[in-house]
Amino acid sequence: ELRRVTRALLSVSDKTGLIEFARALAERGVTLVSTGGTRKALAQAGLPVLDVSEVTGFPEMMDGRVKTLHPAVHGGLLAIRNNPEHQAAMLANGIGPIDLLVVNLYPFEATVASGAGYDDCIENIDIGGPAMIRAAAKNHGDVAVVVEGSDYQAVLDDLEANAGSTSLELRRRLAQKAYARTASYDAAISNWFAAQIGEASPAFRAIGGELAEAMRYGENPHQSAAFYRGPEARAGVATARQLQGKQLSYNNINDTDAAFECVAEFDPARTAAVAIIKHANPCGVAEGASLVEAYERALRCDPVSAFGGIVALNQTLDADAARKIVEIFTEVIIAPDASEEAIALVAAKKNLRLLLTGGLPDPRAAGLAVRTVSGGFLVQGRDNAVVDDMDLRVVTKRAPSARELSDMRFAFRVAKHVKSNAIVYVKDGATVGVGAGQMSRVDSSRIAAWKAAEAAKAAGLPESLAVGSVVASDAFFPFADGLLAAAEAGATAVIQPGGSMRDDEVIKAADEAGLAMVFTGHRHFRH
Ligand code: 5GP
Repeated sequence: ELRRVTRALLSVSDKTGLIEFARALAERGVTLVSTGGTRKALAQAGLPVLDVSEVTGFPEMMDGRVKTLHPAVHGGLLAIRNNPEHQAAMLANGIGPIDLLVVNLYPFEATVASGAGYDDCIENIDIGGPAMIRAAAKNHGDVAVVVEGSDYQAVLDDLEANAGSTSLELRRRLAQKAYARTASYDAAISNWFAAQIGEASPAFRAIGGELAEAMRYGENPHQSAAFYRGPEARAGVATARQLQGKQLSYNNINDTDAAFECVAEFDPARTAAVAIIKHANPCGVAEGASLVEAYERALRCDPVSAFGGIVALNQTLDADAARKIVEIFTEVIIAPDASEEAIALVAAKKNLRLLLTGGLPDPRAAGLAVRTVSGGFLVQGRDNAVVDDMDLRVVTKRAPSARELSDMRFAFRVAKHVKSNAIVYVKDGATVGVGAGQMSRVDSSRIAAWKAAEAAKAAGLPESLAVGSVVASDAFFPFADGLLAAAEAGATAVIQPGGSMRDDEVIKAADEAGLAMVFTGHRHFRH
């Protein structure tokens, strides 16, 4: 099972550690054969080395595309040493054995990462290297193949331990690595190609994605983007029918999804509900006896931010609601359905997109949420927790009234759809102040309270909309300060997950402020 190394072929793009390794091989009496650049580096270091052209009888040609693709090389790699026929073929054709192959590939991945152009990337696809690696690894019974500089020492140690031969154990281990390398190399090429032609990358295909459209650009104009439809046939932005308006942008799709997922929390059999979204955060959510009433109450929460927003409805868009919505600049309307009259009213606004989905996504449905991180991606189950299913535990001396409890549920339902840290004030089934995306919870509390005061001013009311409201927090209050900021703004009741080390302190502060508070035991982080 030991195989003497008499001749080695070295062909490496990354020449780190090459000279030391080659010198140690030469000192063992191994004949060195190399391709152009590698041969030059070895010769300059004073090592005896044959050019691969001398072995093949062919020059390197076509910009290096053809260097080692020759039977004199591949026969030397693939011949089974103790097979008489193979031996006879070697003899008849003047093919010498290659017992050790040392190759690292053209830097395709690094070329792509450097932002190189199309032709440059193509030229950096190594052909002869992977062919030799695969041949040598197939014939690992006789040949050792090294694809990484970090294995040079292991080879030298093995040669030392076995008096100039390699062990089968080492050759097997190296063969496994060799195929891992050619596989990852081809995957990188295929991914790059997928991006070039606007195709689903293999990673997305793995989770069942199907290309819906290649987009002009992503979150910003310098980013490329594509939209994939997932494997689950769920009512929503990915499966909606667009009746009119320009093509949706990346940000439109993201915001429309946030809007529709939020409004889907409201059962259309119980109430009409509307969510207005900007930058994936709600700037107003409300229930009402009708859609138009719900829309007007949602708009009142933050009429400034609602400009250029996305409006999502949980019931069939009717004429009254459509008439009201088109009064201000709106990017997208999404609803399960729309009446003929409503469709005609929206048609007057050419650029406004109208999306009809045929239904609402089920907030309790399981699903996947995917996000990339550098070098990989994270996959998690969808946040399908719903406040109506939670055991609400009253922790204060005062229990909430029925009206407070109903608003608390509303507030926690909306907080699920607000970026963390999320603070949501609600009064009579409408948000009156939303604090989103702050790094500290107390800042979100202050922002939400300030917005409630601003909304009152805009409506010409003397008192902040937060007075007499309830407040929801997506995660526990770590200190009493955020809760006290809410009480100061006029909230009378609090809903939050609980579970802080300082819960006792926070409950005591709530009692002192006369607040009613419930713990849900569930957190709704959304980052
Ligand atoms: P060198 O710097 O020695 O001129 O080239 C080394 C590189 O050439 C290695 O990365 C090796 O994988 C690659 N290589 C060796 N033979 C061939 C071939 O026949 N075609 C192509 N395209 N690349 C080769």
